Amino acid sequence: MTSPVPASSRPGGTAPLPRCAVCDAESRQAPFRASQPEQAPDLDLRPGEPVRSAMARWLQQCPSCGYAAPDITKAHPAAALAVAAAPFRALLADASLPPLARRFLAWAHVLEETGALHAAAEATLQAAWVADDLGLPEFSRAWRQEAVALWRSGPALDAEQTVRIVDALRRASAWDDAGNTAETLAAQDPPEAVAQVVALELRLIAVRDTGRHTVASALPPPSRRPHASHHRVASRGPGLLARLRRWLGGH
Ligand SMILES: [Zn+2]
Repeated sequence: MTSPVPASSRPGGTAPLPRCAVCDAESRQAPFRASQPEQAPDLDLRPGEPVRSAMARWLQQCPSCGYAAPDITKAHPAAALAVAAAPFRALLADASLPPLARRFLAWAHVLEETGALHAAAEATLQAAWVADDLGLPEFSRAWRQEAVALWRSGPALDAEQTVRIVDALRRASAWDDAGNTAETLAAQDPPEAVAQVVALELRLIAVRDTGRHTVASALPPPSRRPHASHHRVASRGPGLLARLRRWLGGH
């Protein structure tokens, strides 16, 4: 354990470095404080700016063992086993994958191995966002499909999570699955904010639109809402926005 030496008495006056909970190595890690996004999130709840562009700082990664997590000083008791195992080592060594995407997939792998399937789905979707930014549609599609499989293999999902599955399927061009999942959800009389997003998803699916759309575009047009902003979005979509906030709290 790191001794509680005051920062001022350490050489150079620096604070103690984070210590990896898996291999005990110390490393320098860029700090990331999740601030409230100023823009509406995408339909899959990828946050708006400025958080959106900061994905390189969402996760820390130990340069010694490769363990990746929002905070590498914490780890599930079974994480060390997963990190040492061949699949994780192979993933880290796979130079065909973008390094930042590999980091999210590494975190997803640890989460999956430790039974956190929905969190693993989240991290896999984040890898797809990295692929989106890099213009790598095949990876984007594959990782969205993988995220959907992880979501579906975990505990039952609520309406808000199901709408994100619809969005992931739509953006992966899985039209039949996206359409059927959206229709089933719409028939279950979901909360109003979810119903609006599902309606937009169904329109996008009908025209085979795989693009990025924001939660704001699922809401009524801003013509009667001068100075429409994310604050108005927040007041109209409390469920989705509350989930976004919870989700950001984990980073
Ligand atoms: Zn480590």
